[in-house]
Amino acid sequence: MTRDTTQAPALGLDQVLAEAGLDALLVARDANQRFLEGFTGTECYLLASPRGRWLIADPRYSEQAALECRTAGTVNHRDPFPPYAEVIATLAREHGLGRIGFEKATLTYGQYEAIAEELGKQESTRFLPTEGLVERLRQVKTTSEIETLRAACRIADRALEATLEVIREGMSELELARNLDHQLVQAGAEGVSFPSIVAFGAHASQPHAVPGPKPLQPGDLVLIDYGALHQGYHSDTSRTLVFGRTTPRQREAYAAVLAAQLKGIAAIRPGIQGREVDAASRDHLVGAGFPEFNHGVGHGVGLEIHEMPLMNRKSEEPLQAGMVITVEPGVYLPGWGGIRIEDTVLVSERGPECLTHFPKDTLIEI
Ligand code: ZN
Repeated sequence: MTRDTTQAPALGLDQVLAEAGLDALLVARDANQRFLEGFTGTECYLLASPRGRWLIADPRYSEQAALECRTAGTVNHRDPFPPYAEVIATLAREHGLGRIGFEKATLTYGQYEAIAEELGKQESTRFLPTEGLVERLRQVKTTSEIETLRAACRIADRALEATLEVIREGMSELELARNLDHQLVQAGAEGVSFPSIVAFGAHASQPHAVPGPKPLQPGDLVLIDYGALHQGYHSDTSRTLVFGRTTPRQREAYAAVLAAQLKGIAAIRPGIQGREVDAASRDHLVGAGFPEFNHGVGHGVGLEIHEMPLMNRKSEEPLQAGMVITVEPGVYLPGWGGIRIEDTVLVSERGPECLTHFPKDTLIEI
């Protein structure tokens, strides 16, 4: 599939830095390093500037960094090399980097202090907070990123299908969750997008329930929220099923959540604000007499499971073709249970496209 021609051309980091009035950005967020350089390690710093890029690597990662980085050279820090703060200050001096941005949501206060102290020894250097510079670049996916996400979603679909084969009375949430994790790897995932959520019966009223020893009983709602990690990219799906026979109340709530989710998806188009998508789902549920869900209707997904754009009551940023987002309204009734339906969706000029395809048309009895 080719990229939509109407899509704005992807901005490069150099242009973003120029607009922000920065000579360089110190990238500490792992997903941002992977996006910019293909580096998959952790505990390293990427100093990125139009004058050059340097991956400041813990020696345990220096071989990997040299193999993976597309353009950045590798500079070591940590014993027996100088500490990272000194390495950064040296690079700044040698390359005349006066205004260096840092990611205020990622750098710890301790790291900030150490680097600011070293840079502070240089009269002309400023260390300035930034927010979401690389994250914004990551929002609109390239054709190859979309293909990777599509593959992740296919793996997730197959894994859930295989998992449903093994569901039996008395098995615990934890057993089912670990089985799903195993099926994800069997289906081709390199891991899970996040610890799988499996909740039975009343436990499903907690949107982020942690699977535990609760045994599966006939009539239980089974809420599953999970994803496949594939080449660094995450899928995200939720399905709610019933073990045994469904009740009229379960079917009524399911129908309302499904209609809300379909309305949310139908609202998706380039130019619409996240809050309008949120409202399309939320208003339907409220109109059907259910309480409002206590989370946003969705979020961007890619190199991280939760990334920009946010899709909640306040999100004003317009969606763009090439973004990949989730739509996941839910009904949560303490003491009764919960129902959530979620798909990973591509924003496109041709209309929204669900990348996850596991059936959802009716409340499935397993
Ligand atoms: Zn999600």
